[in-house]
Amino acid sequence: MDFRLSKEQEDIKKAAREFAGGEFDPDVALELEKEGQYPFEILKRACELGFVGMHIPEEYGGQELGILDNALVVEEFCRQNSGIGMALALSVFGAEMILRFGSDDQREKYLPPIIKGESSSSLAYLEKDQGNDFTSFKTTATRNGNGYLINGNKSLVINGSLPGPIIVLCQLADNRRPGKQVALIVEKHANGLVISPMGGRVGMRMLPMADLTISALKAPHENLIGDEGQGQGQLVNFLNEMNIEAAAMATGIAQGAFDLGLTYAKQREQFGRKIGSFEAIRDRLADMDTQIEVARLLTYRAAWQFDNNDPNPKINYMAKIVSAESALEVARDSLHIFGGYGYVVDNLIEQFYRDASMVDIIGMPGEMDKSFIANQIIGNI
Ligand SMILES: Cc1cc2nc3c(=O)[nH]c(=O)nc-3n(C[C@H](O)[C@H](O)[C@H](O)COP(=O)(O)OP(=O)(O)OC[C@H]3O[C@@H](n4cnc5c(N)ncnc54)[C@H](O)[C@@H]3O)c2cc1C
Repeated sequence: MDFRLSKEQEDIKKAAREFAGGEFDPDVALELEKEGQYPFEILKRACELGFVGMHIPEEYGGQELGILDNALVVEEFCRQNSGIGMALALSVFGAEMILRFGSDDQREKYLPPIIKGESSSSLAYLEKDQGNDFTSFKTTATRNGNGYLINGNKSLVINGSLPGPIIVLCQLADNRRPGKQVALIVEKHANGLVISPMGGRVGMRMLPMADLTISALKAPHENLIGDEGQGQGQLVNFLNEMNIEAAAMATGIAQGAFDLGLTYAKQREQFGRKIGSFEAIRDRLADMDTQIEVARLLTYRAAWQFDNNDPNPKINYMAKIVSAESALEVARDSLHIFGGYGYVVDNLIEQFYRDASMVDIIGMPGEMDKSFIANQIIGNI
């Protein structure tokens, strides 16, 4: 067993670190965060250098590298700035649905602009009164000529108001095959789609989110991903894979929050001593660093298994839960190291703390992640 990254992976991590250090200007980042603006310019430069969608094949504009390589970049970006890091990582949110289950035509049409940063991707599955029951969406797709008519509502859609396709999960309205789901690609300019951008939220303020109202929207058959009846399975598979990226985001946020607290502990003086010399602060730092190491180990293992044709959904879920909990706890502890100043808006640690709070919810909430793991362990008894 070899726990070291390869030379290439070390180089990728270093390059991502240098890029984030150079391009995520703290003043610009603060302004974007305050104004809730998307980091278009930074995304464009990251795309030009091949940092976005590293795991996408070269023929679609990616680097054809592994999920672990992608995780290393995401971790370093989120470490530098949680808001910009998440916005860049999630600019391709849902693109794997097209990559893994779409047709060649769909991949050729949609993936290259996403990887170039000219558009983003969105995935709409949540409905206000449906939660995470993926077996019965209220949004319906009814066969109509050479395609489908979609009706329904979707909620909390990442990148919902940015240019780019939205993959909409629907229930197939077909009496002959009840209970089947379809994933349909919807263009933002399609008639029948109303996009309502969402306002304030705790964290992830740079990322545009939207609610969708869909009325008699026509989607041609060529926009169906895979086959009828496969939507739920595709979504579950996507979320399994997404857990690795969520874990990488959380590990990066935890590390970034730790870095801030450590620096402050070395500088701040009280009672004539650096606060980092107090036993209580040292204990806290030791606990934080240990938590990050555990999160990183699980995250890398999940990614490594995926890259080595041995994907392990249980480990992916564990990685997401442990990393998300670490991010929140480490950010909280780091905020405490800053004392009262940690609670002040415009102090970066405050943003890390808010951003850390969402990783647990993305995809599925932590409670459901745990119930997935329990099912793997003990099944339904
Ligand atoms: C920042 C952010 C970005 C998001 N992006 C997207 C997106 O791009 N596309 C999209 O479709 N959705 C997106 N979502 C929605 C997200 O997937 C859901 O909010 C999340 O899955 C929880 O669903 P819910 O809000 O309906 O909560 P509920 O399902 O109502 O859950 C409420 C509480 O009940 C618990 N609970 C519910 N069911 C169970 C169960 N079976 N077992 C145990 N506990 C349970 C939950 O853990 C939670 O604590 C996003 C959410 C956030 C916050």
